Amino acid sequence: MQVEVDESKCIAAGQCVLSAPEVFDQRDEDGIVVLLAERPGAELHDVVREAAGLCPAAAIRLAELVEG
Ligand code: SF4
Repeated sequence: MQVEVDESKCIAAGQCVLSAPEVFDQRDEDGIVVLLAERPGAELHDVVREAAGLCPAAAIRLAELVEG
């Protein structure tokens, strides 16, 4: 899985950080999303999908990669 975030869409709602703190953080200054892991491990995929689904700004894009 490849994760991309669009900072220009992010409204700093923080839903992604609550769902998947291993993968998302927020900038101290303005709360805009910071991507911590572009390719999170398989054990995190469910929470990353949840975070993307909860994001009110649709700022998180996921691409499934063919592993191997
Ligand atoms: S949930 Fe979406 S809008 Fe909120 S901080 Fe995360 S990326 Fe930004």
